[in-house]
Parts: sequence; C-alpha cells; structure tokens
Amino acid sequence: MSKPDPFPLDGGCDCKRVRYRLISKPLFVHCCHCRWCQRESGASFALNAMIEMDRVALLGEAPELVNTPSDSGKGQQIARCPHCRVAVWSHYSGAGPAVAFVRVGTLDEPDHLPPDIHIFTASKQPWVVIPDGHTAVPEYYDAKQHWPADALERRKALRARVEAARTAQKGS
Ligand SMILES: [Zn+2]
Ligand SMILES: [Zn+2]
Repeated sequence: MSKPDPFPLDGGCDCKRVRYRLISKPLFVHCCHCRWCQRESGASFALNAMIEMDRVALLGEAPELVNTPSDSGKGQQIARCPHCRVAVWSHYSGAGPAVAFVRVGTLDEPDHLPPDIHIFTASKQPWVVIPDGHTAVPEYYDAKQHWPADALERRKALRARVEAARTAQKGS
C-alpha cells in the first residue's frame, strides 16, 4: 500500500487522437461482472475507474458521446473516439456528466488500477475466480460501507458542485 503515487496517468484510444490524463487517483475502481458490461466489452467483466470529470484532462480530440441503453433503463453515454470508435469512458444517469467511469484498459499503464471492489458477482462467468482478499458483492453496494474516507469527502464536494450547477440552470 506504500507504493509511490503513480498519478497523473495518461490513456487514450487506438488511433491516439483521443488522449486523456487522470490528474489524481480515482474515487473507486469497479470490476463489474454484470451481463451488460459483459456484452458491451465482449469480455467477462469491465474494469472502470470512477473519477470526477474535472480531474480528467483532455489532451487530444474530445471523444464523442454515444447514447447507449443501460440496465437502469435511464441510459448511459459512452465516450468513444470519433475515428477508431474505441470507448474510453461512460457517464451514467446517477452522477451524470460530472463523473466518468474510465475504462482502465485504455490507460497506457492499466496495471496501476486493480479493482477496489467486484460488483454484480451474482452474474459473473463461472470460470472467473475472485482473488482471495478482494472485496466482492453480489449486486451493488453502499459507498459509505466501502469507500475510503477521502473518496467520500470528494463525493460530498462533487455533489455540492452538481447541486449548485443544477440550481444555476433552473434560475437562468
Ligand atoms: Zn481513436
Ligand atoms: Zn456492469
């Protein structure tokens, strides 16, 4: 746990026109075993680093937001390179555009971000074995139970900013 802080970390798409930088460590990293993530990745699970969008710096072209159905029924936006179409992150209806679920595999050095939690393990593919010592839940979870204190503080600050932006929008 006392490894040097590797941040900032850069990532991007295959054609390298979309490039981004995670300015700090993410809030929390999900390894999601839900069937939606399996379908969208074509793989067995998705590894997503949840981070405030104001901690994601765009270094190249902006990704294109593609409306995509989601399990909640409210839809998600998948940010894809407009050229090679690789997906770099998603926005979900809950936190909206203020939070990115960055696809860890698009980082140049993805090894720095192993999962903090495995979610929706009830639908994991049976050959996938959760490593000993990893936190795992059958479906979703309560952040207050699992997030470290600094991430919860950041979430509180983020919610205040989102609320303020919504109020300002209503007033205009
Ligand atoms: Zn590209
Ligand atoms: Zn999922």
